[in-house]
Amino acid sequence: MFTICGHTLHPGEKKQTALRPVCGYEMPSTIICGAKPGKTVLITAGIHAGEYPGIPAVIRTAKELDPAQVAGNILMVHCVNTSGFWARTDCLVAEDGGNLNANYPGASDGTVSQRVADYFVKQIFPYVDFVADLHSGSQQEPLMPCLFFPKWEKVREEALSAAKALDIPYLIQSMAKTGEYSYAAHTMGIPSILLERGHSGFCEEAWIESYQKDLRLLLRHLGCYPYNGQPTVEKHVFMKTIYLEAEENGVWYCNVKPGDTVKKGQLLGRTEDFYGSVLHEYYAESDGIVFYHCCGLSVKAGRNLVAYGVEKAG
Ligand SMILES: [Zn+2]
Repeated sequence: MFTICGHTLHPGEKKQTALRPVCGYEMPSTIICGAKPGKTVLITAGIHAGEYPGIPAVIRTAKELDPAQVAGNILMVHCVNTSGFWARTDCLVAEDGGNLNANYPGASDGTVSQRVADYFVKQIFPYVDFVADLHSGSQQEPLMPCLFFPKWEKVREEALSAAKALDIPYLIQSMAKTGEYSYAAHTMGIPSILLERGHSGFCEEAWIESYQKDLRLLLRHLGCYPYNGQPTVEKHVFMKTIYLEAEENGVWYCNVKPGDTVKKGQLLGRTEDFYGSVLHEYYAESDGIVFYHCCGLSVKAGRNLVAYGVEKAG
């Protein structure tokens, strides 16, 4: 039997239903109790509502999986931030502007986004053995497919070994602690990964299909589901990443693209004022590879401009 979020399933059962972390707030989900014992896996998409490719990938995978072939249990939340999805907020929860990748552990008596986070912490995380959270670059953030895994030794190796089983080239160690996957990893000791594929508010079929393959590769790696496909992409593990931030508000011109190799001292971009005077030139602190960058013209102080990995493992 598998009981989670008030639903009890028997071996070989699959149920599609909405989970309700807050009265009137629905997260469309699929719960599977496998015919055989195994790990319990949580897969989420749409925490950032405008990061689309993960959502159809989870919808399709949830539809396809045959519970008779599942070992363990799988909970798939097809879209976590449904209010943001309908309001087209890009990332944030519509009711309160909360960021579900930064507001954990939330609060049971708080705002909607705080209560959604609290629901995961109390009703879901204690019952799962692995978390995979699907994202994309946001509307002004072109990126290379990449994946974040937690730094904490207790969960790092298990998370990284799952990451290496997928079809994503850049695997990035992260110290984040207040997002869904990062709180599950660093605070609750659950091996967890955050995947990034696609960007800019688009939902290309190739990105969806690649995400479907990642999910199948992950479930096979975890011993949950048979799959015949093989990963084809070479992996690079980065232990250190530089997240370049804007020092002041400005009109931003970026000189690099995702996947570019940069050399220490190379000009990454510049900000100007509205009269064309240069405010700031940004140079690479080290050799590295660009994971993603801001392609928006408008940047405010503190905005992430370019992320590039600088220290490869091995
Ligand atoms: Zn995101």
